[in-house]
Amino acid sequence: MKLLFATNNSNKVKEVQALMPPEIKILSLKDIDCFEDIPETQNTIEGNAIQKAEYIKTHFGYDCFADDTGLEVEALNGAPGVYSARYAGEQKDANDNMNKLLKALQHKTNKNAQFKTVIALNINNKTQTFTGICQGSITTSKQGDKGFGYDPIFKPNNFNFTFAEMDLSTKNSIGHRGKAITKLVEFLKFYELKN
Ligand code: IMP
Repeated sequence: MKLLFATNNSNKVKEVQALMPPEIKILSLKDIDCFEDIPETQNTIEGNAIQKAEYIKTHFGYDCFADDTGLEVEALNGAPGVYSARYAGEQKDANDNMNKLLKALQHKTNKNAQFKTVIALNINNKTQTFTGICQGSITTSKQGDKGFGYDPIFKPNNFNFTFAEMDLSTKNSIGHRGKAITKLVEFLKFYELKN
């Protein structure tokens, strides 16, 4: 079975393919020659994931799944949340975003945060969502060079190092996207059996 992941983020494709059973081959937007910026104009993580999957179905005709992720920081009342990608501006730069967040938390003692991923699967004109959460805290400086986005400043609970210091299989086993993808895979296995 081939399934389109509505993203051009090669890091995410790698993470997701690693969690899929070998019989499910993940395609990305570049495999269907789609290089456009998919609209993400909703004000919830779930809304954006659904919007992206429906956009691809409507404009390109493929069943697909899309993800949207936000980093929710307790001391900032859940910000940057759905606005995580453009927290420091429209340039969507990971370093700018991390610097802004480190500064915002500089004088806060509560550094608790969680990553939340919602995956929206659009299959046979029906949408299903799957949510994954990973709790942890924001560090006081960047640590590590693996991963992407906010990984260098996010330390998951029960670990003494950041996402950017762990290998992919560890991040996948405890991470927000991994948890959401595991639910998606379970659904797809059942779906395949039924259809
Ligand atoms: P999006 O859902 O891919 O648009 O992600 C929203 C923001 O969260 C972007 O700034 C991403 O770089 C960041 N982000 C998404 N997933 C992760 C992750 O697994 N680790 C760190 N940052 C992430």
